[in-house]
Amino acid sequence: MTGRPSDPSPTPEAQASAQPRPKPWIEGIHAYVPGKSASDDGRPLIKLSANENPLGTSTLAIAARREANRPSAYPDPDSRELRSALAELHGLDPTRIACGTGSDEILNLAAQGFAGPGDEVVYVRYGFAVYDIAARRCGAEPVVAPDRDYGTDVDALLACVTERTRVVFVANPNNPTGSYIDAAELARLHAGLRSDVLLVIDQAYGEYLSDEKDDGGLALAAAHDNVLVTRTFSKIYGLAGDRVGWATGAPGLIDVINRIRGPFNVGISGQAAAVAAVRDQDFVRASRDHNSAERARFTAAMAALGNHGIRPVPSKANFVLVLFEGTLSAKSALDALTEAGYAVRHLPGQGLPNALRITIGTAAQMDEVTQVIQRAAEAAS
Ligand SMILES: *Cc1c(COP(=O)(O)O)cnc(C)c1O
Repeated sequence: MTGRPSDPSPTPEAQASAQPRPKPWIEGIHAYVPGKSASDDGRPLIKLSANENPLGTSTLAIAARREANRPSAYPDPDSRELRSALAELHGLDPTRIACGTGSDEILNLAAQGFAGPGDEVVYVRYGFAVYDIAARRCGAEPVVAPDRDYGTDVDALLACVTERTRVVFVANPNNPTGSYIDAAELARLHAGLRSDVLLVIDQAYGEYLSDEKDDGGLALAAAHDNVLVTRTFSKIYGLAGDRVGWATGAPGLIDVINRIRGPFNVGISGQAAAVAAVRDQDFVRASRDHNSAERARFTAAMAALGNHGIRPVPSKANFVLVLFEGTLSAKSALDALTEAGYAVRHLPGQGLPNALRITIGTAAQMDEVTQVIQRAAEAAS
């Protein structure tokens, strides 16, 4: 006889109505809600809802991906040229780099590789929405630490760590708040964790920081066995559509990512585009400079509406979280912006009903967004 000893046979009725049942922890997941690009009635909107680069993409990267495009061929499974380009730029060992289908894949693999049912995954309230999904996907329990005025609170994170904690996620700068902790705070967070707890430092917006504001994440990942830094080509590099991300950390961490990632997880054109993008740091600098200037201007314009209860959360990223604590609600501001042709991010599902996350666009777009909010605030008072 083959197979297992049989259970009592189900009745024919039970067999007819049986369905595949998802694991209970999968049922607890709310699918990621992407930023909108059209109004509810289908009108296309200017998209300041997904933190894309308003300058587009490096022309060298666009040329490289066009040239490399070979749909019939599998890509290099190990993204070797890309890893060596990244290693050269950041002064890293290429064997300590793994690439992913966006950093999203790597964030999920980091949870899956090191946590499971009975374990806990810790992150801060108003953290990146993917952490909750990544924790639940592998059956671990998400544990949410209180924020400090929308920012990462290292003491609160450390207070949430128990003997069941396996992974701590921190985005720095954070999305959707734009908040940032400096190198000393990040080092203090790491020093407060047991060496068997994996610290994932998500630097999706790391390239928007000036060198003197570097949070030291890459140095922590180079020096310790329990730190993984993730980065992406979706934000400053303007390659969100190509789905390319990467991570660096100790060989033991990279080995786990490589075992469980998709074998051909970064496509040919994405690899080629990313290599060219890494080598075009002029485009990165221009994007950073544009962002710093427009973010400062927009933040000041929102702060000037403080008498209407409008308050920008200080941001180090390519967006600003604007709080609406006066007579103009975030929902009314959202409606006014939609009417004017702009998509921004309202995140009531993430506990932010009183806020809008607005991506830094072109100067003209930021002028118009400012005017729309100002007029709506005056009309509401
Ligand atoms: C946008 C973003 C990512 C990157 O996602 P990709 O999958 O690389 O496109 C990762 N973390 C944070 C905090 C983000 O905002």
